[in-house]
Amino acid sequence: SEQLFRKAKEVIRQFHKHGFQAYIVGGAVRDYLLKREIADIDIATSAKPQQIMEIFPKVIPTGIQHGTVLVRYQNDSFEVTTFRTDGQYDDFRHPSEVFFVNDLKLDLARRDFTLNAIAMTENLDYIDPFKGQEAIANKIITTVGDANKRINEDPLRIMRAVRFSSQLHFRIDNNTLESINEYAHLIQKISIERVAVEWEKLIKGDNIRHALTVFFNVKLHQYIPILKDDVRTVDFLKKIDNSIPSWSCFIAAATWKNVHITIADWTKQWKLSNQIKRNATTLSNCLHDYIKGEEKLALYNLPESSLNDFARLIQLITDHTISVELLRKRKMNLPIQSRKDIVIDGTMLIELSNDKTPGKWIHEMLQQMEKEIVNGHLTNDVKILSEWIKNA
Ligand code: ATP
Ligand code: MG
Repeated sequence: SEQLFRKAKEVIRQFHKHGFQAYIVGGAVRDYLLKREIADIDIATSAKPQQIMEIFPKVIPTGIQHGTVLVRYQNDSFEVTTFRTDGQYDDFRHPSEVFFVNDLKLDLARRDFTLNAIAMTENLDYIDPFKGQEAIANKIITTVGDANKRINEDPLRIMRAVRFSSQLHFRIDNNTLESINEYAHLIQKISIERVAVEWEKLIKGDNIRHALTVFFNVKLHQYIPILKDDVRTVDFLKKIDNSIPSWSCFIAAATWKNVHITIADWTKQWKLSNQIKRNATTLSNCLHDYIKGEEKLALYNLPESSLNDFARLIQLITDHTISVELLRKRKMNLPIQSRKDIVIDGTMLIELSNDKTPGKWIHEMLQQMEKEIVNGHLTNDVKILSEWIKNA
């Protein structure tokens, strides 16, 4: 992220060279102050989108009607937004119009919370008209300006406040919390995809316990798919005391706690990706094997990238703690890592068998053999496997 900052400074100098103002803004400034890792850097500028495209050769017009473009610079991307104020939020989603302005302070004023409304120059000086640094020092989430107005005009900020409290270990200030309590029902107006983005960040946050307490206190669950009519899932959530590493892990655990709601229900009602659905299904199947005592089979079928999710899932469901390292070691020590490692394939199997008619028995026998090898009941050796096939 050191290098990312260096590039951002170069981008800012390009703007200056062309007579425009430009600053680092938003999450990057907040996370820099908190010494948290910075994934991406947002830049605000007085240049209009058309002018940005004239300055930089590679610009992707991602949200040009709102003044946002993606500037590609030396293989990194910067989200660059023209200073703007927002018009009326008539649909609770996007301002019906945006007005480009020449004043950084007006741009900072439209931002959600004071901790997100600090600008930074290329010399790392802060411009902080709303006392964001003070809020960060005091670990407080508070809206820029009147809380009722700001929460009401964009209710996604409700979910954002709660997820920031989870990610940052911050407290939501009383005024903002009262408005959130008052307007919690407006979260229904926000598309589930946008709620899902914030939910994922919430469950991954270290302070999930505190954030979920706020979430239930203001009764947000009453306005959110699945949670609104499922007591058992809510009970499960109320007992969670530690962060959950992924959507898939979360869904696998939630559906384990209430079998009446399936993984498909979650992914459909929350409009989640097929990737999440697939990973959750694998986790759930492997947990079944694991709990049945078939740990080797579970680890065999689990991709290495899911080991961390699996360790957390085991903890959530069984209350036993098992380290990812131990699971990884046991997986590495399995007799085979995939079907390709078996020394006998389908063709050889037909040759060795008494039954030469093609059919699904071949697949079934291979599967049986694979399982026996994984469990250590059968050695992956041509002679031994041939013997086993002949006797089958
Ligand atoms: P993250 O680190 O998760 O990306 P972030 O604060 O950068 O957090 P983004 O969604 O990337 O969040 O938004 C960038 C900035 O845009 C925010 O810091 C904030 O200043 C502003 N912003 C984002 N969403 C809203 C909103 N709903 N209302 C007002 N300002 C917003
Ligand atoms: Mg961001």
